[in-house]
Amino acid sequence: MANFSGIGEFFTKLGYALVGKKMIIAKSAKDLDRMRDVGELIAEVRETLRKMVEPGITTMELNRAAEKMIRDAGAIPTFIGYHGFPFAICASVNEAIVHGFSNDVPLKEGDIVSLDMAATYNGFVGDTAFTAPVGEITDELKQLIRVTEECLELGIQQCYPNKRVGDIGWAVQQHAEKYGYGIVRDYTGHGIGRKMHEAPQIANYGRAGTKERIRAGYCFAIEPMINLGTHETKTLADKWTVITLDGKPSAHAEHSIAVTADGPEILTLTKEQKKELKKGKTETVSA
Ligand code: MG
Repeated sequence: MANFSGIGEFFTKLGYALVGKKMIIAKSAKDLDRMRDVGELIAEVRETLRKMVEPGITTMELNRAAEKMIRDAGAIPTFIGYHGFPFAICASVNEAIVHGFSNDVPLKEGDIVSLDMAATYNGFVGDTAFTAPVGEITDELKQLIRVTEECLELGIQQCYPNKRVGDIGWAVQQHAEKYGYGIVRDYTGHGIGRKMHEAPQIANYGRAGTKERIRAGYCFAIEPMINLGTHETKTLADKWTVITLDGKPSAHAEHSIAVTADGPEILTLTKEQKKELKKGKTETVSA
């Protein structure tokens, strides 16, 4: 779930005033193991939902499936009750950017749907999102989803010790702008740990070499929100669903990651995805 940049900045400033830079919480080895556990748990939910998306299914059905999976795993759906949010997932269709409410309207061929979900397990939170095509979609929408995923990957690749948080936003921005897309500014990624939203705020735009220094043990939820048209947003009367001001579609992709001495480790991968990654790395080494 994305952080509202206005409120976030206020709390960040307040936090700095109170406790200075200690606001960013570096995780211990034991904490990181728990972050891995919850990351894998919520990644399994994400991949289950990905397979379920097809014309005719409703976001309420997806929401129910996610809530059941999370609870069956002994975890808590973090979004439910978060500042009053009523669902286990955020389901944002077409022009909805983030924080959409689930409902009983069947998804239609040609739609895109962004699904964002989080779980709390053993005291730690994992947060992840993806945008799925509903049946066959236009090439324009395929590109929007692909570029959003590439932006996420490029942002993650900045997460090395001694780099800066501004490097993440810069990497996302320079890629999205190549395509003329609008980068959402009103909502940001965030630090993650025992709380879903920790410091720092991770904007999807910015200047390289600026903002907080990245250190080993930091955990981030990186989440580009990329629009086909304007970056401007508005919030619906439900006080949650954020849509594009021009009504054009928007895509969202998110991973929770840990910064290690060797660079970024994606926490929100399934067992299967971790195996694939390991295989790929071994093949690269032996090649
Ligand atoms: Mg998030």
